[in-house]
Amino acid sequence: MPNILVVAESRAGEVRKVGFELLAAARPLAAGGEVHAVLAGAAGIGAQATSLGAHGADAVYVTAHAALAEYNAEALAALVAARATAGGYRAVLFAASAQGRDLGPRVAARLGVPIASDALSIAVDGDATVVTHYAYAGKVVATLRLNATPAVVSLRPGAVTAVATNGAGRVEDAPPVGDPSASRVLVTESIKGDSRKLDLAEAPVIISGGRGLRSAEHFKLVEDLAEAFGNAAVGATRAVTDEGWRPHSDQIGQTGRQVSPDLYVAVGISGAIQHLAGMRTSRTIVAINKDKDAPIFKVADYGIVGDVFEVVPALTAAIRVAKRS
Ligand SMILES: Cc1cc2nc3c(=O)[nH]c(=O)nc-3n(C[C@H](O)[C@H](O)[C@H](O)COP(=O)(O)OP(=O)(O)OC[C@H]3O[C@@H](n4cnc5c(N)ncnc54)[C@H](O)[C@@H]3O)c2cc1C
Repeated sequence: MPNILVVAESRAGEVRKVGFELLAAARPLAAGGEVHAVLAGAAGIGAQATSLGAHGADAVYVTAHAALAEYNAEALAALVAARATAGGYRAVLFAASAQGRDLGPRVAARLGVPIASDALSIAVDGDATVVTHYAYAGKVVATLRLNATPAVVSLRPGAVTAVATNGAGRVEDAPPVGDPSASRVLVTESIKGDSRKLDLAEAPVIISGGRGLRSAEHFKLVEDLAEAFGNAAVGATRAVTDEGWRPHSDQIGQTGRQVSPDLYVAVGISGAIQHLAGMRTSRTIVAINKDKDAPIFKVADYGIVGDVFEVVPALTAAIRVAKRS
């Protein structure tokens, strides 16, 4: 039976949502086999294994070590490669997150197999694993057939919806491979951004602003709309981050963050191909632009042709009223 291995990321001792999405993506691939997860972190991380079981992991391999409290590329690559080899998996799945983009290729290199990065979908066709992903900055969707075993794939966050199975996976202690504290690069501290801000990768709603807002001060409109939703993060285009109106960590697109929220509201954004590359997989896209021919309307599910300085405050007021009722 073809078992599948999922690499579950944790941050500050908690499993990240994308790990649950990977479990949902893995289940159809397993076709009667099992879905296993690797979970690593500081002492106490094992308590998180139940959440992976409750989202479809049949077994969770837990490695706890003080030097795994922060992302430890070398130690994790050794650990995941060893598990992948020992388990004889059909596929090993990573998130196409900052961490997964670093870790996936390291593991693939150790296993001597190729990696398919930033996949939008993953399926099985006979002995091959078939993935789709964007190419040419999102202009085309390419289909790749992976014949290597295991197929190493990183899946875009939000590409698959997590499913609560309420199962209880086996939990097995897995010792680290080598000494994690001997890694040549150790992250000693990670400094969180504004703790009140929702992470762009996790937020179900993203309100993104573009040059149409004209200045940093006008981003207050976008922040107010995000606050009215209550579960929204604020994003931006590169034009905006280059101007210094927002931090670079807010940039969405080809050279920024890749996001797939349930709802993406584009405020004064033209819809350049490089921006679309980071957000076009969002479930519902709403665009507000005064130019009816702006390219953003080609990918939008709902378009409002109008001035952001009129439309956004009206929308914010309407959301507040709707939330109160
Ligand atoms: C190699 C490379 C990588 C890149 N990577 C990225 C990336 O990762 N992310 C990214 O976003 N960009 C990226 N870019 C830049 C990209 O090409 C665009 O320049 C950028 O996305 C444009 O940002 P914008 O939509 O905010 O600005 P603009 O293109 O200037 O659009 C502003 C829009 O606001 C509208 N507008 C103006 N005033 C109002 C108003 N009052 N009410 C309503 N609408 C109004 C206008 O009609 C216009 O459509 C990259 C470019 C290159 C070359």
